[in-house]
Amino acid sequence: MFGLKKDWSLDVLPRYFTLEDYDGGEARWCPGCGDHAVLSTVQRICRDEQLLPENTVCVSGIGCSSRFPHYMSTYGFHGLHGRAFPVACGVKSRRPDLDVWVATGDGDCCSIGAGHWLHAIRYNMDMVVMLFDNNIYGLTKAQTSPTSSQGQNTNTHPEGSWLPPLNPTESTLGFTNVSFVAQTVDWNPIHLHATLVAAHEHRGMSFVRIMQRCPQYTPHIFDEAQADPTKILLLHHDNGIPVDDTLDRLYPNKMEHDPLNHTEALDISVKEGVIPIGLFYQNRDRPCYEDYSSRGHDVTVQQKLDGLEAEFDRFAI
Ligand code: SF4
Repeated sequence: MFGLKKDWSLDVLPRYFTLEDYDGGEARWCPGCGDHAVLSTVQRICRDEQLLPENTVCVSGIGCSSRFPHYMSTYGFHGLHGRAFPVACGVKSRRPDLDVWVATGDGDCCSIGAGHWLHAIRYNMDMVVMLFDNNIYGLTKAQTSPTSSQGQNTNTHPEGSWLPPLNPTESTLGFTNVSFVAQTVDWNPIHLHATLVAAHEHRGMSFVRIMQRCPQYTPHIFDEAQADPTKILLLHHDNGIPVDDTLDRLYPNKMEHDPLNHTEALDISVKEGVIPIGLFYQNRDRPCYEDYSSRGHDVTVQQKLDGLEAEFDRFAI
């Protein structure tokens, strides 16, 4: 007799995912690299939200942080240098139901990928963008990146970087149709987690700049901010990143900032002498391009053929 046995079913059983279910294998970043903290935070969010691994996609370009998709047991695409954004937007365009996370670095995003960066922000497709900013090209062993500080010694500028650094937070705030910009640090797991949770909840492109330690090539750039909590400016507001008692006690230097206030966000982004962390800007009313690009997904092949035939008929002699 053919067919299913009476007590068999093709229904998918409810599944519960543990952290191990999102673990794609041993991360081969240097010991102490800030990328480890971001990876474990994203895995934790996936577990807490019970994101289906088969409906989750991590996309990256090239660089140390761009190895991120290899360490997630989800779908992933390790793309070309600077091309994380077009790949991620392509995925979202055809499959708006997927959860998309983009891992990019200061070199990948702000240099070779800069053209894609500004247009992706304008497209405002629903995904989380994590900019790992360590002020250096790490994978290729210490060349000046767009965010290297003036005077920073690198392989390409052994006597010190000449130009003032590009500020990715300020730049992103200036792009058309920007909808979510936040900044955090890899060494504070509470703030890092709360920021990425807020980014994931936001519908639209959530741009999160993460100050990322690179003990290999820029080992001391965040020493001061780590040793002296007054060097961090904690942004808080009812509409911002939640601030719990621990953060409140740790960071005495605070500022109330409404993320609806774009002008103030720009002012904060260029503050010197402190690292502002929190939600700079959020606008939930920005249009998302996938609402347009996914139109017609439910059109059948026959309907497409009929449409083509109708077009050809217009030119029939
Ligand atoms: Fe991390 Fe720097 Fe090592 Fe790259 S070189 S893995 S950024 S510590």
